[in-house]
Amino acid sequence: MKQASYLFIESCPLCGSKEFSHHLTTSDFFLTKEEFDIEKCNQCGLLFTNPIPKPEEIGKYYASEKYYSHPQKHFSPLGTIYNTIKNINLRSKYNLIAEIIPTGSLLDIGCGSGDFLKFAKKNGWKISGIEPNSSARNFASQQTGENILLPEQSILLGENSFDVITMWHVLEHVLDLHQQIATIKKLAKPNASIIIALPNHDSFDGKKYKQHWAAWDVPRHLYHFDKNSIQQLFSKFGFKLQTSYPMKWDAFYVSMLSEKYQGNKFPFAKALFAGLASNRKAKKTMNYSSLIYHFKKE
Ligand SMILES: [Zn+2]
Repeated sequence: MKQASYLFIESCPLCGSKEFSHHLTTSDFFLTKEEFDIEKCNQCGLLFTNPIPKPEEIGKYYASEKYYSHPQKHFSPLGTIYNTIKNINLRSKYNLIAEIIPTGSLLDIGCGSGDFLKFAKKNGWKISGIEPNSSARNFASQQTGENILLPEQSILLGENSFDVITMWHVLEHVLDLHQQIATIKKLAKPNASIIIALPNHDSFDGKKYKQHWAAWDVPRHLYHFDKNSIQQLFSKFGFKLQTSYPMKWDAFYVSMLSEKYQGNKFPFAKALFAGLASNRKAKKTMNYSSLIYHFKKE
């Protein structure tokens, strides 16, 4: 490992403690096959990747067309499953928000190619988006007809501007957690709803697949939250957790990838059983493979 290219995290990104324990070693199964360590903060329990690639190096770990949800045709079985789940997810994400507030102003941070924003706009929402990847951002601008901004331009959106701010599987990618939540706090109207979707390593599939669990997704995922650590982070900024919702399809998709990462050439049956088991066990514990958290600004 060329250490010059890596950034060693010296204090916990959540609580600042300098005492960590090694949690596990996993690999970038998706792209580079490179190994990364995940550490656990002894103080607050947050799991985080350490070391991580330096900001100027991280781009190469996203250097795959597969990572961005461009609307290309997928002919592989996994691609078809992915697209079907994506469309179902799109509607259920939208329904979840429309139930909180029928319409209003929405900011999607890390909007990718803008599918969710487009869907919301069609349903009467005033939309804004932020996306760091240039090809995804350009695509999102085109398909939404809005000027999608870079993260560093977010202040242009104005303080107290949004009824709803969403981050769908995005917060775990953001380098400066505290700065990100502070920005959300500024942009959100008083009483706004903040919707955060994250993988949950406390899920059955997270525990079953251990280092092969696909949602570690190192080094792109810098943090690995659970119900406790995400709540600690948001409560530091005065946000209150309202409720959380399961993302049941993720259990199947993540199990499928995890089976593949274990070397299983025919992952379908096993992934189906693992996904069913994960969702069944989570009925009591709420430890679904992925969770959507609804926080409110005070
Ligand atoms: Zn900590």
